[in-house]
Amino acid sequence: MRVRLKERRSEAAEVISFVFDLGGQTFECQPGQYIFYELDALDFPDERGNRRHFTISSSPTEKGILMFTTRMRGSGFKETLRHAPLGHEINIGTPLGHFVMPEGEIRRHVFVAAGIGITPYRSMLRWAADTKKPIEGVLLYFSHSSADIVFGQELEEIARQMPTLSLVHVLSDPEPGWKGEKGKLNEALLRKWVPHPDQQLFWVSGPPPMVTAYKELIRQTGVQDEAIRTDIFAGY
Ligand SMILES: Cc1cc2nc3c(=O)[nH]c(=O)nc-3n(C[C@H](O)[C@H](O)[C@H](O)COP(=O)(O)OP(=O)(O)OC[C@H]3O[C@@H](n4cnc5c(N)ncnc54)[C@H](O)[C@@H]3O)c2cc1C
Repeated sequence: MRVRLKERRSEAAEVISFVFDLGGQTFECQPGQYIFYELDALDFPDERGNRRHFTISSSPTEKGILMFTTRMRGSGFKETLRHAPLGHEINIGTPLGHFVMPEGEIRRHVFVAAGIGITPYRSMLRWAADTKKPIEGVLLYFSHSSADIVFGQELEEIARQMPTLSLVHVLSDPEPGWKGEKGKLNEALLRKWVPHPDQQLFWVSGPPPMVTAYKELIRQTGVQDEAIRTDIFAGY
């Protein structure tokens, strides 16, 4: 499907959302899925080529658009999109992936986001807020510093609309005066926010080393594999 670049949103330090206009075409996906994006040509060299996969960070309730959000780290693919004129056309593939809300799920949710791993939760939570299907649980969002928090204001607004969801920011490199949680995920922090881990459905999303480490830690608290969903941003 051909879509046109509609907008670039600066979300945090060197994090950009690329918003595409669907041009009236129908595009069905579930919150949490990802797709392939293919550029016709690269304006900057890229040894990994003109194709990447990214989570759809928009929600199906945001009609007429599709968005992905990424940290800019210099690849030719991302730089081409950073400099492309609005209206620039690209190809997108069909939605893929099983990091989606199971129908009829009644357990409380523990969403664990490491860095840019927040993208699928932005889609899920925006969808839940827009369709008035509140989610019960907690979002533990790990970032380096406040400047690296992506969708910060929007997540606060969603949490205000959805009192059943607790939003917990954890910073590994906090600025002086930060009063929130600090460090990485550890058992004490997990048990503080999730007193009964064995009764919840866990979601872990982000770069591969963090997803692996966090999943292992969650398992050590007695959570079964079946109750841990992971979205590994391979290539990151
Ligand atoms: C299911 C799935 C969903 C995904 N969803 C997303 C998403 O929503 N958002 C997202 O950003 N990514 C997502 N990814 C990862 C994405 O597909 C890219 O692989 C990733 O962003 C890397 O992009 P890039 O190759 O353009 O490199 P860039 O991130 O631009 O980096 C350029 C190159 O520089 C090197 N490099 C850059 N920074 C470092 C560093 N700190 N340490 C070492 N080397 C470095 C690497 O070799 C890299 O290839 C997802 C992956 C999967 C599998």
